[in-house]
Amino acid sequence: MNQKLKPASRLSVVFILVVVLSGSILTWFSINNISNQKVLTEKRILEEQRELSARFSDTLQKQIENITAGFSNEIAPIDLLKDSLVKEAAESDFVIQSFILANNGDFLYPNFRGIEVAQSAPKLSSRFKTAFSKGEKAEFAESNLNAAKANYIQCLTISTGAFDSVKALNALGRVSTKLQEFENAIQHYNTIVSTYFNVSDENGIPYIYYAVPQLLKITTTDNFEKQLPVFESVFEKMEKGEIPLNFNTEDWLTQSIKSLQELTVDNPSKLENIKTFEMHILQQLQFVDEYKNAISEFTQNGSSGKFLNTGNDFKIVNSFSGDSQKLFLINTNFTNPAGFLIDGEKLFKTIVKTDLQSDFEFDYIIGFATGYRSNSTKNNLVFSSQLNPYFPEQQLQIKLSDENLINGLIQRRSWIYGISTILLLVAMVLGVVLIVRDISREKHLARLQSDFISNVTHELKTPLTSISMFAESMLLKRVKKNSDKEEYLSIILKESERLKRMINNILEFSKLEKGKSDYQFVNSNLASLVTTAIQEFDYWFEKEGFEVVSELDNQIEAKVDPEKMKQVFENLLNNAIKYSSQNKKIISRLYLNTDKIHIEIEDHGIGIPKNEISKIFEKFYRINHKESISGTGLGLTVVNEIVQAHDGKIEVVSEVGKGSKFSIILHQQKVKP
Ligand code: ADP
Repeated sequence: MNQKLKPASRLSVVFILVVVLSGSILTWFSINNISNQKVLTEKRILEEQRELSARFSDTLQKQIENITAGFSNEIAPIDLLKDSLVKEAAESDFVIQSFILANNGDFLYPNFRGIEVAQSAPKLSSRFKTAFSKGEKAEFAESNLNAAKANYIQCLTISTGAFDSVKALNALGRVSTKLQEFENAIQHYNTIVSTYFNVSDENGIPYIYYAVPQLLKITTTDNFEKQLPVFESVFEKMEKGEIPLNFNTEDWLTQSIKSLQELTVDNPSKLENIKTFEMHILQQLQFVDEYKNAISEFTQNGSSGKFLNTGNDFKIVNSFSGDSQKLFLINTNFTNPAGFLIDGEKLFKTIVKTDLQSDFEFDYIIGFATGYRSNSTKNNLVFSSQLNPYFPEQQLQIKLSDENLINGLIQRRSWIYGISTILLLVAMVLGVVLIVRDISREKHLARLQSDFISNVTHELKTPLTSISMFAESMLLKRVKKNSDKEEYLSIILKESERLKRMINNILEFSKLEKGKSDYQFVNSNLASLVTTAIQEFDYWFEKEGFEVVSELDNQIEAKVDPEKMKQVFENLLNNAIKYSSQNKKIISRLYLNTDKIHIEIEDHGIGIPKNEISKIFEKFYRINHKESISGTGLGLTVVNEIVQAHDGKIEVVSEVGKGSKFSIILHQQKVKP
């Protein structure tokens, strides 16, 4: 036994050491790890933010170069240049407007001409002038519309150029309207729209600006379908820059659209094309209005250093309109400087949408702000960098899309480490408790074992001493009387039987420990087994003066191992004798009760304290009675094991000073009829 337990306790100590050591290392590492993790994650985030900022700048540069790439040093007719600029603007997400400038800073496209800068009207022939004056006199002073018409027709006939022709046509259109000759009027005005659309009067106002409102007045729902393409062509020409825009255009446009809407109340979708042209024209007007001064300033002081060169021939000029998110891309190497107005905000958004952070570990939000800030703030992990050089007052701001990422990460880690450490501690404490228990049990057993050895030696010695003493006496022929001889011999026999019982118990216990105990179950009469066991002790009963009462039901049979059962009864009877004091009365009973077999051995001896009853069946366990009765502590252990092997149980009722009753309860197997 001792051999078996010692390695276990050594293992326990090793276990404690390993667990405590590894637990402490793990705890130390986990605490360190959490703080390292935070620092490392922050570092990684800052690196990614820096990289994202660099990627953003690269893409910005590439996008700008992409727009302008096709226009390096282009020498093309102005119309072709205009078409490709317009196309590029339409295809790009962030070009607001393309433009071509005259060298004096005026706009060629969008075609905007202020009235005050209109060319002076060409000279009219005196014949034309006379006829036209007559016509006007007849029309306005005399209200003779027919005479007026005749004069104007004459004007048309004698006109030699665009300017006099369109002047006559305009007057004819007017007077025809007054005469309610609408067909004629429409025809005259249509000619102005289709042929003389870019001819202006002496005030610099293109005739188209008169013709269209007049045409709209005499257009009805009946002739609208026919006239619609005429109006569309006017708006389209304006959008394309073929008809110049001026300070009146916006009002004129509003009025014209209003009239057209009245004509298309039933089907507004017919104005779809016109509406698109209107939108573009208004945009051009707004552009001119907003940037005219900035552009002319640039063309005049082009080399003043307020621009930056792109990778190609374009210069980048920040808008001076106060909205720093807009900028010009201008190529001044062209015969006519040309370029684009870029919407910075849209450009940024377009870049943000491109896959800039595909291979990043974390997700970021890119934002923009005006003004300058410190480069990066570690606390909230917002990375700021200037969008130089093109957007000098713009800041690029990069922050984590999940602001709680770090805290969440740390919190999760802390939980995991915390719980693991607690589990580890619990396991450690449990381990220690188990081990301490194991060790104390081991110690207890060791003590019981050493007691057992001294007890067993003593137990063996007593009968052996008697046997050798009486045998010696007999051998030396010191005993003369036959009756004495008989007594000596019976003492030798009884002592050797006692010795045998003791050795049987030790052998049985040893078998039990090794799990090698074997049973031969046979049908046996229990009363005769009990009686045989009692008879084994007759000598002692008589010697000690015991009153033995047997109340045995002779009918009861059971399938038991008779030898083992006899050992049980002998052990119980032996105890009953050993632990009796003054009242030497032993009762044995065998009876059936509710189909169970009860075998009882009852004494009236010293009894067992209540708190000890549960322990007396443990191996080597002995109660320290004040009477100091010798024994090995194995008798009841063997009894208990044998009874359990018979699928039975053993109950003890005992009171100190009054006696004990041990009851074996077996399942009934067979009862003789
Ligand atoms: P032992 O050899 O000490 O008798 P046992 O296993 O037979 O070993 O019994 C264990 C302990 O139980 C004994 O030491 C004794 O104190 C107590 N015991 C057993 N039988 C009796 C009994 N009939 N009366 C009082 N005490 C008993």
